Amino acid sequence: MNLHDLTVSEAVRLLRERSLSSVELTGALLQRIESVDTQVKAFLTLMADEALLQAELADEALASGEGGLLTGIPVAIKDVISIKGTRTTCGSRILENYIPPFDATVVCRLREAGAIFVGKTNTDEFAMGSSTENSAYFTTHNPWDLGRVPGGSSGGSASAVAAGEALAALGSDTGGSVRQPAAFCGVVGLKPTYGRVSRYGLVAFASSLDQIGPFTRTVEDTALILQCISGQDPDDSTSIGVPVPDYVAEIRKDVKGLRVGIPKEYFVEGIEPGVEKTVREAIGQLQDLGMVLEEVSLPHTKYALPTYYLIAPAEASSNLARYDGVKYGLSAPDATTLWESYMRTRERGFGPEVKRRIMLGTYALSSGYYDAYYLKAQKVRTLMKQDFDAVFERCDVIAAPATPTVPFRIGERVADPIQMYLSDMFTIPANMAGLPALSVPCGFIDGLPIGLQVIGKAFDESTALRVAYAYEQSTDWHKRRPPLGEVAD
Ligand code: GLN
Repeated sequence: MNLHDLTVSEAVRLLRERSLSSVELTGALLQRIESVDTQVKAFLTLMADEALLQAELADEALASGEGGLLTGIPVAIKDVISIKGTRTTCGSRILENYIPPFDATVVCRLREAGAIFVGKTNTDEFAMGSSTENSAYFTTHNPWDLGRVPGGSSGGSASAVAAGEALAALGSDTGGSVRQPAAFCGVVGLKPTYGRVSRYGLVAFASSLDQIGPFTRTVEDTALILQCISGQDPDDSTSIGVPVPDYVAEIRKDVKGLRVGIPKEYFVEGIEPGVEKTVREAIGQLQDLGMVLEEVSLPHTKYALPTYYLIAPAEASSNLARYDGVKYGLSAPDATTLWESYMRTRERGFGPEVKRRIMLGTYALSSGYYDAYYLKAQKVRTLMKQDFDAVFERCDVIAAPATPTVPFRIGERVADPIQMYLSDMFTIPANMAGLPALSVPCGFIDGLPIGLQVIGKAFDESTALRVAYAYEQSTDWHKRRPPLGEVAD
């Protein structure tokens, strides 16, 4: 068996038994990156030397019977999450040479658990996009079909896991950026409840929506990574001290009798018939597993996309004001006044989608328009949350498609932002309501993966994971691997 095909849980077991060393495993992953990443292009920065050094230390810890939940496991980190001393570009020219002086809390926690970082993965610039085509550096390719996008914005992390370049990865999800690429790349991806995972060290996009979440090949592995990164953090005042359950134990609990809401607003015009059919079959399987299905309504779903495109750009325009060329990042050297320096730095440093969002957001927040746009959008957001509250009085989870289509072709949507935005129509509502949601592989159309989305109650990642685990165990979608040749272009 190829070492790069191992799941996290399998590798943890082999490492603990000492039938595999972390140096062997990390070496095999780095080898895999070398042979396939010229095609997939998942990584912006590789950390090969550091990873091998960490692997040696992990082997020493394992030899002396020490170590945490992930000792010796190679993982990849989306390039909007800070690793001390390693370039963190956010897929932007404005941070091309930025080296953070501190670790994000999630990075500290993975380090404490013993994980090894193999590199930083590609992303749409500042996580704004659904395809990685907005990265200032290059586009990542979908390992299942190199002519198609891996989704975004965490497309590098999703494709790295799908292609066997890392056993797990972290991404960030503001409107779907973990779940949509997970669906497109045939892996599991979870956005935790807002407040479950610390955002300290995550470069902010839209602070009231952003959450960090894992990508893995199995639900059990997602439970394991979530276990390691969850919990309150004094450095993030929006992280909440709700006790963190033992997710790996929780997923094995019985699912019989669980009530699953099927929102009728998620099976509407715009969804590809093949995707709808596949997702409906997966939902039928939930019933076969003993769960009880109920059609429900989330009436404000149609407002999710327009309200998101007021709130997210408004918050982004404020968060991105800090990139002014003064303290760090790109700085235009040829300006004669401070104002000119701001203008040139931002003109050169930001790409077109980021500029579009800054303009939209600045407009929505401007005096005289704030009430009509930002404030009104926040009110609609409350209505959307109330829709979910009502459904969760009767249901334990909600099941729906993760995306309306299969992965689209590279270039197909770049000229049409609305088409690109529509890719997130089913993922945005969970961000607006702050709820946990995941995508689990539920089938293929012409070799392209489809994701089933499971949305849970706030802070009840356990039940969503449990439903996904029961489903996964009754299928073999998670055992498929992309048909990726090892010969570089
Ligand atoms: N695709 C959405 C956007 O462009 C969501 C991005 C995200 O979740 N980071 O805003």
